[in-house]
Amino acid sequence: MMKSMSGVILGGLMMAASATAQPAQPRHWAIVVHGGAGDILRARLGPDGDKAYRAALTKVVQAGAAVLDRGGSSLDAVETAIRALEDDPLFNATRGAVFTSAGTTELDASIMDGATMRAGAVADVSRTRYPISLARTVMEKTPYVLLVGPGADAFSEQAGLEQVGPAYFFTESRWQSLVKQLQKEGKPIPPRPQGAPPPGPVTPTAQLQEAADTHRYGTVGVVALDRQGNIAAGTSTGGLQGKMPGRVGDSPIIGAGTYASNQSCAISGTGVGEYFIRYTVAREICALVQYKGLALQQAADEVIKKRLAPIHGDGGVIAIAPDGQMAWSFNTPGMFRARLAEGGQIEVHIYNDEP
Ligand code: ASP
Repeated sequence: MMKSMSGVILGGLMMAASATAQPAQPRHWAIVVHGGAGDILRARLGPDGDKAYRAALTKVVQAGAAVLDRGGSSLDAVETAIRALEDDPLFNATRGAVFTSAGTTELDASIMDGATMRAGAVADVSRTRYPISLARTVMEKTPYVLLVGPGADAFSEQAGLEQVGPAYFFTESRWQSLVKQLQKEGKPIPPRPQGAPPPGPVTPTAQLQEAADTHRYGTVGVVALDRQGNIAAGTSTGGLQGKMPGRVGDSPIIGAGTYASNQSCAISGTGVGEYFIRYTVAREICALVQYKGLALQQAADEVIKKRLAPIHGDGGVIAIAPDGQMAWSFNTPGMFRARLAEGGQIEVHIYNDEP
């Protein structure tokens, strides 16, 4: 007892001594963003697509960085950056969301606060303009972690979040991709969603969406570290094109597509959700950091490249740690990704031959 008491006191004294000897380093913020992983090929994307996606990712990083730079929390930065991605039809989240086999839109999103381990998520929601904000509202205003379907939609309305109709999510290119897929699979073609415009000419945005193959994967996600040393993660998606109504992927599943803990790391994933759920990808990476002491990049590569790639669990992750380590890892030809640490240069990459 004496021994352990003195040990505690000694430990306390030592901490105090080292704290006076070495003034605390000012902490720097950092942010990493993804816009989906998949068969994203330079030849298919073309110079215009390449430019458009890099510009979109840059804008989103800047939006999140602005929050962090004025001393905002990592949670606020994640929500702000994801809202910008949810508004952009180039990505498969909200405005550019893919359709289910019934021609409906079912959105999934989640957010987690590494400082408190609080989390909020929604699945199969169809009326909320910003599902990431709905996930945050679930976290902050209910005792629950995950709300789904009509209950989540009703809660969204009650909570005063912006509501939109099916036409808001409609883009011609996503619709045509669905029609093509269903024809190939010999499945019936559902009616166009209520309020959708009549079939029209292919717009430049539609061409880019098609080229990027984001109808397969194109989920968006953000991880951030703020000046207080807290990390957070968020993910938002329309899921997989042509999915069975009611199917839920990994994005709203805490520990699979999203995870954050100040004890280890923050992760947002993208890819074939069923693998990310079964292999609890996000938590697995953080567990390797926490219990095995792996560097963040090594832990992410271990799960994505060594465990998932051989079993065709296609996809990738972005990651951040409270000490400022940033990482991304993917086993597909490309992943839309960008990052920025305070005082550094924005890095924006798409293909697997880039850093
Ligand atoms: N992971 C998402 C899902 O399975 C899809 C994606 O990342 O694009 O719903």
